[in-house]
Amino acid sequence: MLRFSTTAFYYIGKIILLRKRTKNMGTILEGLRSANLQKSIEKTEDTIRKPEEKKTLRGVYRCRVCGYIFDESLEGKPFSTLEQCPICKQGPGAFQQVR
Ligand SMILES: [Zn+2]
Repeated sequence: MLRFSTTAFYYIGKIILLRKRTKNMGTILEGLRSANLQKSIEKTEDTIRKPEEKKTLRGVYRCRVCGYIFDESLEGKPFSTLEQCPICKQGPGAFQQVR
């Protein structure tokens, strides 16, 4: 009887421990799930955004200082992302839209 009780307590203890671990695992899994969810949301947003950007990436801008051409379709990004001319380091203000 005593032996049974000890065994029972041993298992109860194990179950409690496992439950704690499962709870932690649940938190970890939830964290992973929300991280994955965040990723898939970003991915979805990307797929939604990309065709739209492709449509608008037609602008061609020329640096008035050195003549550098920023072609949005070639660069694959809008002119608004350009911080400075890669050649003469002028700001976007030095650029003139060609097309
Ligand atoms: Zn320039």
